[in-house]
This record gives sequence, structure tokens and C-alpha cells, in this order.
Amino acid sequence: MTLHQNFIAGSWMDGAEAADNINPSNTGDVVGTYARASREQAEQAIAAAKAAFPAWSRSGIQQRHDILKKVSDEIVARKDELGRLLAREEGKTLPEAVGEVLRAAQIFDFFSGETLRLAGEKLPSTRPGIDVELTREPVGVVGIITPWNFPIAIPAWKIAPALAYGNTVVFKPADLVPGSAWALADIIVRAGVPEGVFNLVMGRGSVVGDAMLNDPRIDAITFTGSVGTGKKVAAACVEHMRKFQLEMGGKNPLVVLDDADLTVAVDVAVNGAFFSTGQRCTASSRLIVTEGIHDKFVAAVTERLQNVVVDDALKAGTQIGPVVDQAQLDQDTSYIDIGRKEGAKLAFGGELLNRETQGFYLQPALFTETTAGMRINREEIFGPVASVMRVKGYDEALAAANDTIFGLSAGICTTSLKHAAHFKRNSEAGMVMVNLPTAGVDYHVPFGGRKASSFGPREQGRYAAEFFTIVKTAYTLP
Ligand code: NAD
Repeated sequence: MTLHQNFIAGSWMDGAEAADNINPSNTGDVVGTYARASREQAEQAIAAAKAAFPAWSRSGIQQRHDILKKVSDEIVARKDELGRLLAREEGKTLPEAVGEVLRAAQIFDFFSGETLRLAGEKLPSTRPGIDVELTREPVGVVGIITPWNFPIAIPAWKIAPALAYGNTVVFKPADLVPGSAWALADIIVRAGVPEGVFNLVMGRGSVVGDAMLNDPRIDAITFTGSVGTGKKVAAACVEHMRKFQLEMGGKNPLVVLDDADLTVAVDVAVNGAFFSTGQRCTASSRLIVTEGIHDKFVAAVTERLQNVVVDDALKAGTQIGPVVDQAQLDQDTSYIDIGRKEGAKLAFGGELLNRETQGFYLQPALFTETTAGMRINREEIFGPVASVMRVKGYDEALAAANDTIFGLSAGICTTSLKHAAHFKRNSEAGMVMVNLPTAGVDYHVPFGGRKASSFGPREQGRYAAEFFTIVKTAYTLP
């Protein structure tokens, strides 16, 4: 099988080692073999990005626009093939995967436009006769570290703004899903980025990631992943006094009030909690339900789950694909055991499933009769496991929703304008959804959370400029 190489300093290169990318729907299917870089190769990529920065940071905005647009166009043209690759390596269903690929294209398209729209400000000074100018400059070499659950969209929403605003890039994708990252890198390279501007360094977090964290030539790091790794990124960035941005875990609440439209609430809950196999940082893992609708809601969700099709991600009709790998499956099943031992009632699912091929298939699990202190309500599981918590009324629901170290996304299903408005204002999450799943966001508006879910400026949309540029204030006495 051909080796998919890293792209460092303008050349495709073998790694220190190589690893097979395994299809979680069929563990006998090897998606491809991918290089894993050494520490020295990561440092070579950083040196190349540093050397390329002065010229790229002053390159014309037309050049940057055209490159990003070309990337977007090629992704759109190849959406089915790239979607298949993504579904095959990560396990989300083919329609979800094609949707994610298109999202990546939309992001590159959006930021190709942003290259032409970057504006500054000119203001009068408080001292007569002096002009004040505010401009945005690129930050320098940006290190990009991404997780496995959105193998093309998350890289896109970091790489596109980094390049658009004139930064150079060292990109380290998650080692579990290098296929989509490699395909994206190949497209970016062929779109014409000059040597050193964009580097792909696949490999282990403990090798490539660690080399990036500890290299003073990296000026900023944008990271998405777990809280544990995020803390390491933060500590290293503080040590080097560099800019950083972290997007991490969630334990997102969905509140369902007595006055909710039951059909809407069930759709929103099943989609938010279980689609994409629950492997979304924005998944609704806590369903907080008021007592008047509780029993009807649990019965309707359970009935819906009985008909959900869990199968091979590439099969037509599959609604939920497999868990990404054995380690994540072990984590999911261990939390199902923990929930049982804590006294929660397993109202549905939680069994391993056999399908035509050997894969990591898990029936979605729904716990009821859970309480706020249980670990299944406090810790991120990151699988198709959700728990229902019964509460008396809106006030208790809001308090339960905010009773978490996380604060990424929060939802409410209600027909009450008063409660919707109050929840939007008082939820301690970065993103709030009314009658919509906690997962599922637009690409032209800010994305991010509060508390342990996020740190630093928001990602996506125009707000991305906050992280990927630095403001300069210039005073002139003409
Ligand atoms: P992870 O923290 O294990 O890995 C994330 C990335 O960090 C990977 O590329 C990994 O190789 C790298 N890494 C690991 N150790 C490192 C080290 N010592 N130094 C530098 N880099 C290192 O996370 P994961 O398991 O890939 O992803 C799942 C997590 O990501 C979940 O917690 C999920 O909630 C979170 N996530 C958050 C968002 C968001 O936007 N908030 C989006 C998607 C996923």
C-alpha cells in the first residue's frame, strides 16, 4: 500500500515510522498507511514555516484569496469521494461525512472572501493634529493541533483563517484519522501555497505535538481536543508567552420543559445526543426534563431509539455509525457500567452489536432516574450515551443545566418566549439553542464556549480574526 507522506518545507517526506488507518466499521479494512513524523521533522517544518513567514505575510490578498478559493472549489468537486474517505476512517455516516466535507469547502470559501475584507480603522487622536491608525497584522507561525471527531471541518476552520490573514502553518492532525487531513493537505499544496507556508506533520501527540508546544519559533497555537491535553497546551504556551486558543470538551444540557412540542423535543434530543455516534463536543449528553412531560418524553425517545439503524457508516440507511476505535468503545462501556453502579436506570440500549463486518458497534444508551452528582452527569463520555434528569420546573432545570465545569453549548425545548429569553440570557454556555439540537452550527458566526470548554478568542466567522491577527495601534503626526 502506498505511504501517505508528510509535507514539510515544500517536499513530501517519509516519516520516522508509519501507521495503518483502520476503518471502525470494518476493522479488516485498512484505509491507508500514513507517515508519522519524528521530532526533528516537526522542527524542520517549524523552521520552514518561520522562514516563509516574512514573504507570505506581505503577499497580496488576491494571491491568498485565489488559493483559498481553489481549495474550496476542489473540495466541492470531490465531496462524494472525500465524504467516503471520512466516513471510512472516522465512522460517521456517509451523509454526515459528505456534509462535513461541504462544510470544510464553505469555510475555505468564506475565508477566501475575508482576505479581501480585512479592514482597519483611522481615528482622530485626543491630541490635535495626530492621526491614530488601527491595523491587523498576521501573528506568525501558527501551530494547529486537531482532534479525531471532525477530521476535515476542524482543520479547515483553523487552516483557512490562518492562511487568509497571512500566517504560516504547521498542521498536526489527530493520528487516528490522518486520511482526510492528508487529502486536504494535498489539495492545499496543489492550490499553490509557496514553499514552507503550509506544512503537514502527521504523527503522535507525544512526539509531534510535544515538539510544537516546546518550540519557541511557534508564535501561536490553536488546539481542539480534550481538557487534559488542553491544559498541557496552555502550560507550554504560557511558558513561551505565546498566543493560544483552546476548544475542549462538553457536557451539554438540553432542557425540555412541560410546554415543549413533544415531537420537536424528541427530534432535537435524539439528533443532539446520538447522531455522529454522540462523538461531538456539542452533543446533548444531559437531558434535563420537567416532571409534567418526563414520562411521555422518555417513552417517545425510547421508542425512537428502538428504530434507529446502527450499522456500517457507508451503508445506505445507517443512521448511527460505529464508535471510532476500541479505546473509545471501552470508555463508553465503562461509563455504562459506572451509571448502573451509581443507581441510574438503563432505560434503553448500551449493548455491543454484531454486524456483517467486525466493527465497534454500540447500541445508543439512555439512562433515566439520574442525579446531578453522578459521574455520568459530570464527566464527558464522548459516545452514544445520554442521561435524563427529572426536575420540578424551569428554575431547577436552569440550575441543573449550569451545574457543570463545562460551558460549550446548551439547548432548551419550549414554546414559552419568556423561558426561552431567560435561558438565552442565563445559560452559562458559549452557544445556546432554542428548539434546536445543541450540535449543529453555522460557519459564518462565532463558535466556542465558556468555563472548561474553551479558552481564548472565538473560532469561525469574522471573529476568527481576533486570534489569527494582532492589532497594531500607530500614531502619526503628519
Ligand atoms: P486529544 O486531546 O486526545 O487529542 C487532540 C490532539 O492533541 C490530537 O491531535 C493529539 O494527537 C494531540 N495531542 C495529544 N497529546 C499531546 C501532547 N502531549 N502535546 C501536544 N499535542 C497532543 O483529543 P481527541 O481524543 O482527539 O478528541 C476528543 C476531544 O476533543 C473531546 O474532549 C471533545 O469534546 C473535544 N472536541 C472539542 C471540540 C470543540 O470545539 N470544543 C470539537 C471537537 C472535539
